[in-house]
Amino acid sequence: MGLEDIEQLLKDAKFRHLSEATLTSYSDGQLDKVGLALADAHLSLCLICKRRLTFLKEEAEALESYVMTEEDHASIDQLIKSEPVNRLPDYISNELHRLNSYLRDLLNAWIVPFSEKATRGGNDGDEIWRYESKDGMLTAWAVLEKNASLTVHFSSPDLAWEGARILFRLGPFSKEIALQRKDSGVAAKIEIPRRERARNMADISIKVLDLSASRKDL
Ligand SMILES: [Zn+2]
Repeated sequence: MGLEDIEQLLKDAKFRHLSEATLTSYSDGQLDKVGLALADAHLSLCLICKRRLTFLKEEAEALESYVMTEEDHASIDQLIKSEPVNRLPDYISNELHRLNSYLRDLLNAWIVPFSEKATRGGNDGDEIWRYESKDGMLTAWAVLEKNASLTVHFSSPDLAWEGARILFRLGPFSKEIALQRKDSGVAAKIEIPRRERARNMADISIKVLDLSASRKDL
């Protein structure tokens, strides 16, 4: 770069406002000698850019001394909870695995009776199936409603599972549900319309997805 070029550059710089990037670099002390000279040349003339620079420095200091508010914590918690299961904190991950093992047991209890014969009989509004884990921590039952839809209920006194999202599939029907606070425990209900009811009732899967952000007690 010749001397004339530099003089021209300096002249231009004096009358051109500093870019956001230049201001930031200036504030962080990251400009090279030429860049610094040019910026200083402009700053010595321009009140606007001087004010922008001051504002930028104050902003940086404010960020450094920033104290986390309740709201910040809440939004970070939300982020954590929307992470996939394997990246969740251990205690949540453990709860989900525990729920998963109960659901596996429940699935076995479902598949055995329904693989024997198709459930066509039974009166309307009948409970056609019921499961209760040995320790009573998970209860599920299925009701054939008067309109011929099938309702599957889940219920547990274990509040640790509040907000757990479950993917329920029965034949062609699938739906995502969440265990929600009900009375002194958690519960969920799925209604499967008549036309979507599975022919093969043993064709079922239940998968725990994660704990939804609606969970507030963590
Ligand atoms: Zn300026």
